[in-house]
Amino acid sequence: MITPEQMKEILKEHVINLRFHARGGQGGVTASNLCVEAFYGYGVCQPSFGAERMGSPTESYVRLSANEDLVRTNEQVYAPHAVSVLDPSLLGEIDVTAGIAPGGWLIVNTTMDQITIQQVIGRKDVNIATIDALNIAMEILGRNITNTIILGALLRVMPIFSIDALADAIMQRFKGEIAGKNVAAIKRAFEETCTYETSEASDIDFSLDTKIRWQQVYPGLPGYKDLDKAGVWYCDEDVIEIGSKQVNTGSWGEWDMIWDEEKCTDCAQCWYICPDFAIMREKGEDGLWHMKGIDQSHCKSCQNCLEICPVEAITKKLKQGPAACAAPE
Ligand code: SF4
Ligand code: SF4
Repeated sequence: MITPEQMKEILKEHVINLRFHARGGQGGVTASNLCVEAFYGYGVCQPSFGAERMGSPTESYVRLSANEDLVRTNEQVYAPHAVSVLDPSLLGEIDVTAGIAPGGWLIVNTTMDQITIQQVIGRKDVNIATIDALNIAMEILGRNITNTIILGALLRVMPIFSIDALADAIMQRFKGEIAGKNVAAIKRAFEETCTYETSEASDIDFSLDTKIRWQQVYPGLPGYKDLDKAGVWYCDEDVIEIGSKQVNTGSWGEWDMIWDEEKCTDCAQCWYICPDFAIMREKGEDGLWHMKGIDQSHCKSCQNCLEICPVEAITKKLKQGPAACAAPE
């Protein structure tokens, strides 16, 4: 089993990917939200609904890392390190182990034993944790709501944050007596979770589904460092050189934008408005930045610059080739 100290080290350079399977109304999405709220680092979560009605299968995804650049994606989790199943009837209905690498964890709200679960899921290379969350829910909460309880079981096998941090997140989200009962329920779940390590949990590949790093494009605007990250590109110098012709986003544009240096007053309005950083500037001998031209390999012909230019220093010309032939006269 991975220790909290090992997990902290892993989270410095990797993402922990989680997936929750539930039925509509069981609170699977709340469980994923609580993971992000309780985590000390950076996290994102996304739900995925099918038919929006009570009882239909739902999924939600969580990415957590101490490295903020590693969680910046809104895709669903394809290779989870742990999957939590809030409703045991989903085991035979949904491929709940899809994408879990050997050594990953399947956490199930069930009274079934490990052998039965292995037979149902058809795999023996994932570790299994079980918790009778329904029983705990009925005894402590008085109703069949198991979404917080499954988190107690998750923390038992994946110490991504402490049980106290989870309790704090629950106290923030819920009010009064119900918050206290949920905290009591997760602590009991943590103690009562049964674990079956069928393969080496410490051998799990934590590089799975970890995206290449994002890099912010620094526009150099006053105060830009205070803003949330925006305008990001995939950046891996060995794969895609930033701003290179390999990322030829200008290829789909219909127009070539033409810049008239004589008319241009260097007001920089086109530079501010261009969504693709396709307005090029360079620092002159006077130490100031000056308009240099338009990067046609990244300009997508949105014409924002043309419309904003106060002196009509930007015009447009239809590109040659099929796109131009297809355009109306
Ligand atoms: S047309 Fe759009 S993408 Fe191209 S330079 Fe102007 S503002 Fe940028
Ligand atoms: S908006 Fe027009 S005048 Fe201002 S920098 Fe751009 S091209 Fe030059």
